[in-house]
Parts: sequence; C-alpha cells; structure tokens
Amino acid sequence: MPMYEYRCQGCGKSFELLRRMQDSDRDLKCPECQSDEVERLLSTFAAGGCKSSGSGRFT
Ligand SMILES: [Zn+2]
Repeated sequence: MPMYEYRCQGCGKSFELLRRMQDSDRDLKCPECQSDEVERLLSTFAAGGCKSSGSGRFT
C-alpha cells in the first residue's frame, strides 16, 4: 500500500497516511483539526525498490 503525504490547508500541518490507491483522496481529514481541506503532496512510496538492500528477499 503506498504512503501518501498530505498537508492540511486549515492548520498547515503535513502528515503521512498509508492508503489504498483508489482511496487516496477519499475521506481525508486532518488529524489535528479534522478539517477536510487537505491537499495531497507527492507520494513517497519507493519507485525503485532495488535500492534498499535489506534481506534481498521479495515477499
Ligand atoms: Zn489541520
């Protein structure tokens, strides 16, 4: 599930949420002020996962 970054237009706080792609802009609310005036910033999920050399195992 990709992680999206959002910023509240009400209080200016930015936050990250893990959301399904089809739900990325649905039912958004600021965790601080509960405003739904939230804009989505660039998504931060890894585009090229090869760079993270962890266990090297794909699940
Ligand atoms: Zn807010």
